[in-house]
Amino acid sequence: MTYNVDENGYYGEFGGAYIPEMLYPNTEEIRQQYIRIMEDPAFEKEFNELLRDYVGRPTPLYYAARLSEHVGARIYLKREDLCHTGAHKVNNTIGQILLAKRLGKNRIIAETGAGQHGVATATVCALMGMECIVYMGAVDIERQAPNVARMKMLGATVRAANSGSRTLKDATNEAIRDWINNPVDTHYIIGSVVGPHPYPDMVARFQSVISAEIKSQLQEKEGRSQPDFVVACVGGGSNAAGAYYHYLDDTEVGLIAVEAAGKGVDSGESAATSYLGKTGIIHGSKTLLMQTADGQITEPYSISAGLDYPGVGPMHAHLYASGRGEFISITDDEAMEAGRLLAKLEGIIPAIETAHAFAIFDKRKFKKDDLVVINLSGRGDKDLQTYIDYFKL
Ligand SMILES: *Cc1c(COP(=O)(O)O)cnc(C)c1O
Repeated sequence: MTYNVDENGYYGEFGGAYIPEMLYPNTEEIRQQYIRIMEDPAFEKEFNELLRDYVGRPTPLYYAARLSEHVGARIYLKREDLCHTGAHKVNNTIGQILLAKRLGKNRIIAETGAGQHGVATATVCALMGMECIVYMGAVDIERQAPNVARMKMLGATVRAANSGSRTLKDATNEAIRDWINNPVDTHYIIGSVVGPHPYPDMVARFQSVISAEIKSQLQEKEGRSQPDFVVACVGGGSNAAGAYYHYLDDTEVGLIAVEAAGKGVDSGESAATSYLGKTGIIHGSKTLLMQTADGQITEPYSISAGLDYPGVGPMHAHLYASGRGEFISITDDEAMEAGRLLAKLEGIIPAIETAHAFAIFDKRKFKKDDLVVINLSGRGDKDLQTYIDYFKL
């Protein structure tokens, strides 16, 4: 019994590859090769060297003394906000671009909503001298101008998706269309633990460096490698998957997933996917997603652009359905206050996505000596304007 993926690409009843037949050769090539490539010592060496010298790993595991005192538990922060480009996303894009090179691809496509994954992809394409095309909804291009500028500065082409609601799912459709038309020379870098098998597993493996480091850092600091709880915010689920990975089957470690409730879980403006979701197919994967009674995908809402995805990765759907994970939803207001609290107590301004994870303490009580690791997925520089508007700074 495992909470990790099985050989068919399923986590319990979730996962698989529900894709148009024309896409089969593309995903099949990756499925047949990814484990072999990732386990090749030369690949591991190159990946680990780039994580160390380019991304800045290992990221610190920091004991947050003032926050611990305030909350009444022993809290460590895993500092993914200190990664190059400001969040965990680059762990995955480094891994996938190295994989693309070994598959003989020289052209990279991606889709992005908030622009964070687009920036992480454009960054590694510049690093490797590869062509980079990022699809983005026309509405998002307008909303996320600084990230569009970053991608362009890094040499990427940003292509607008003008169909539908002109947001993330429309950009995804454009990216898939591109990939179908360019199966030989192009790799599609998906930015979270979503999409058809083997993407969720591949991305989780690249992000698993987070929990590998937590284990050895806790061992060094506390003389034990297991915390009592690991807490992470969940959009698609990649930073959480990385932070949970080496603890998935260690049921003494509690896994806490924090979703965005937007204006309230039952307000109609929310992104609390597990709580509100029903089983369906999105982005080539069977998982929990927000949908209407007749199966139309509902437009999600959260103040944090990185959490407003209508689905959740299949690993998390299974953690939810099986009860292995504990899911908590946090509103915009609760997240913003928690972001400010962390800034004032620890001198760290978190991304608003991340701030959700720090807002659980009013709802979820811990024991004084509970050892809690919070994955600090990203820094708040990109969100400064939202903080300014919200707090009238
Ligand atoms: C993108 C992003 C997230 C959400 O994505 P996951 O795949 O769920 O990790 C969370 N935090 C930050 C800082 C992000 O940039």
